[in-house]
Amino acid sequence: MNVRTRFAPSPTGFLHIGGARTTLYNWLFARRHQGVFILRIEDTDEVRSTEDSVQAILDSMRWLGLDWDEGPVDQQKDLGPYAPYYQMKRLELYQRHVRELVQAGKAYPCYCTKEELDAMRKLAMAEKRPVRYEGRCRDLTDRQRSELEASGRKPSWRFRMPDEGQTVVDDMVRGRVSFDNKLLQDLVIQKTTGGPTYNFACVVDDHHMEITHVIRGDEHLSNTPSQLRLYEALGWAPPCFAHLSMLLGPDGSKLSKRHGATSVLEYKTAGFLPAAMRNYLALLGWSTTDSRQLFFGDELIGAFDLAGCQKNPAVFDRAKLEWMNGEYLRKLDLRELMAHAGPFLAAAGLSGALTPPLERTVALEQEKCKLLTDVPNRVDFFYKEVAFAEKAMAGVLRKPGVKDILLDLAGALGGLEPFEEKPLEGAIRDYCGQKGLKTSQVFHPVRAACSGRTEGPTLFGMLALLGKDKVVGRLRAAAGLL
Ligand code: GLU
Repeated sequence: MNVRTRFAPSPTGFLHIGGARTTLYNWLFARRHQGVFILRIEDTDEVRSTEDSVQAILDSMRWLGLDWDEGPVDQQKDLGPYAPYYQMKRLELYQRHVRELVQAGKAYPCYCTKEELDAMRKLAMAEKRPVRYEGRCRDLTDRQRSELEASGRKPSWRFRMPDEGQTVVDDMVRGRVSFDNKLLQDLVIQKTTGGPTYNFACVVDDHHMEITHVIRGDEHLSNTPSQLRLYEALGWAPPCFAHLSMLLGPDGSKLSKRHGATSVLEYKTAGFLPAAMRNYLALLGWSTTDSRQLFFGDELIGAFDLAGCQKNPAVFDRAKLEWMNGEYLRKLDLRELMAHAGPFLAAAGLSGALTPPLERTVALEQEKCKLLTDVPNRVDFFYKEVAFAEKAMAGVLRKPGVKDILLDLAGALGGLEPFEEKPLEGAIRDYCGQKGLKTSQVFHPVRAACSGRTEGPTLFGMLALLGKDKVVGRLRAAAGLL
């Protein structure tokens, strides 16, 4: 089978974590099977769809590295054999199929106004009946229809659902799920505006775009029986369905803004790497039999499989995502790290030819970074005046004897040649020996005085990179504060 999957967002907001996971699974599945991955913009909600949202979706997917083979290139252009991929540009197609259903007696005009429908809904709720369209316009005579039209009412068009029996969804994640047809309502397929509704446009497009697998969030499972009925009425074979587990926040409620950032681009700004994000999102609802956590390079594509998707909700855990990002960050080679960290460094005023060179300080601190935003924070002391952390000042420097140690070392290191890692280590250890001091009594104050911190990478490497003038100057300046 030539696999064809699609991500079909409604452009009514940013691409959020749940949408990103859906698009990732579709992408992984298509890539795994050398298939085609399609992006289709479901912009049929005339009120809520915005161009900004389309842009945010394109930007988010590009940032995540999820390339699509067919679909929009930008706000105007789209590419692919089934173009257009913006639903609002496909209205004629939907209308043609509505006419086909009407001619076959499978769809009918409904003249109920919004107010009337609202009133029916309220009444059903008050009487504790299921809220569904009761079929008031199902069997109007031609005469009744003409009268309603003459009174100025514009119809929407409804699809006639069966009243009895069951519709079974054979889902690749959920298994067989059965729905009572009497609970399915005659759904609107074309609005009074002439535009299609989601359920109808989705079926028409999935058919015409030859989608083989519909992989989407589990909130759409309840739409699937109605969609299956539409496939049947139109005489089309349905695709395979896979509904992904729900995403929860750490407190067990549905993942939402309350749990922190939900938009993908916020994670970009927060300093996450796209590859780490992909790895983390992949594990939100999917696992291998050996519960493997890290997949580098193309390993995810090789491992992904719908059989490993679980029904149970997945919990979004930012701490785990940060851990994972650190794992990815440490694995980057220096050139890649500089490319990713460049914008974050520049935003902190660190760019161009600096002394010591940025590549060297970044390389030295790489081990300690979890997020790209950590990179400027970790190297800025090489270039800017030392800002003493409370722990460094109160906990380390303001201790008896420290002032003398700093002044002694400023003297000893002032004459050290060459000012490199090994000789620095030799000189400082010698000093400890002469004074009968434990190394920690000396190393900690030196680090605190030169970097303002109590932790960091190798002390001697850091001193060597800082250079003699800065080290001696900082030892003296810190002593002066004590
Ligand atoms: N436009 C729908 C949404 O954004 C797509 C659902 C589907 O994949 O069928 O939720």
